Amino acid sequence: MGLTVCKFGGTSLADEPQIRKVQAIVAADAGRRFVVPSAPGRRNADDRKITDLLYLCHNLAEQKVAFDEVFDLVSGRYRDIASALGVDVDLDTHLAKVRQGLLDGASADYAASRGEFLNGLIIARLLDSTFVDAAEIIFFDAHGAFETERTQQAIDAQVRPMARAVVPGFYGSMPDGSIKTFSRGGSDITGAIVARGVGADVYENWTDVSGLLMADPRIVDHPKPIDVISYRELRELSYMGATVLHEDAIFPVRQAGIPVNIRNTNRPEDAGSMIVPEAEQKHTGAITGIAGRKHFTVIALEKALMNAEIGFGRRLLNVLESNHVSFEHIPSGIDTMSVVIADQELDGKLERIKAEIDQECRPNNIDIYPEMALIATVGRGMARQPGMAAKLFAALADAKVNIRMIDQGSSEINIIVGVETEDFEKAVCAIYKAFIG
Ligand code: ASP
Repeated sequence: MGLTVCKFGGTSLADEPQIRKVQAIVAADAGRRFVVPSAPGRRNADDRKITDLLYLCHNLAEQKVAFDEVFDLVSGRYRDIASALGVDVDLDTHLAKVRQGLLDGASADYAASRGEFLNGLIIARLLDSTFVDAAEIIFFDAHGAFETERTQQAIDAQVRPMARAVVPGFYGSMPDGSIKTFSRGGSDITGAIVARGVGADVYENWTDVSGLLMADPRIVDHPKPIDVISYRELRELSYMGATVLHEDAIFPVRQAGIPVNIRNTNRPEDAGSMIVPEAEQKHTGAITGIAGRKHFTVIALEKALMNAEIGFGRRLLNVLESNHVSFEHIPSGIDTMSVVIADQELDGKLERIKAEIDQECRPNNIDIYPEMALIATVGRGMARQPGMAAKLFAALADAKVNIRMIDQGSSEINIIVGVETEDFEKAVCAIYKAFIG
């Protein structure tokens, strides 16, 4: 029964039956003293999230268009939830204040943050906990950058001593007292910040899946769940597109070495995935997961005696830098060098970049390969383990996938291959089958 901060996502709080599950989860462990709720999410595929409705109200108000109809949907959701739960919160007063705020030109951040604020009031009452307005403990500086130290001190001083508290997710305040939100999905970040501030033993992130999966279930049929993953492995996988947790939510807990447990509100009996500091490097030959992304372009250069030419790489990268383009990988050979770039980075700049490279680097040849996909096979168990690459490449060869690029990070926990976009799904399945079965 360690000290636990529980963040519950929008689908976990979408209506009364869901919130009852949350209540039972919190009651099941006395260590679960601090709760960070999102705003009510979708109840089904056709439903709207409260946050989206609030942004819509703000848009309409900004255009001086009546937003009552949309606002009524928001009010109705909260009233239904509160009455079904039988909690006594003065919603009328709070809703009237939000409505007036919108009419008076309140910001989009203020509007959106009210989703968490109102939900927090209800959940605090239900759980018999103290409501702590996030605006009073989560701070941004005048430039909108999150203020770590000041926030940590406030949480340590004000929240940590409380027996039980509910802190709404997603927002904090600016030096002038106005509300600022994190980016979308930001309640994950609030949960991580609170976990660090109170010195939690574990940060539980409750959502609607039982943790991370070893591969994308849209590609691999029923992939296995990941039991334990290190922060670093998670970073590699999420960078490649595996998402459960907001990326920025990792940093506060990682710094403090607090493990994150991704759990399923609808299946609390599942252990979920544990994201831990550097998990023991057991050289088991097992992989942790596979993830990949499409839409990369490779610019491949060839030049005789490139290896002896001082400054070639710098000139090439200078061209990218001066065009404000970041790159992913630079596979190179004796007389060849390629850069792998995400298409969204290139965004209409390819021709100019090509011309500038021609001029600055004077290659013998410059080829462009569009439509590449990258696949990362990640696993701390792969480090110092012979035969991992062989197994990977054999699997791809058997599936008749042509590998266009190979890159193994220096950490040895990651092998990245570049394949043609049309081979992407086939390649992911082949790797999964080879390593996991
Ligand atoms: N409610 C916010 C959103 O929809 C924040 C969150 O749920 O984490 O983005």
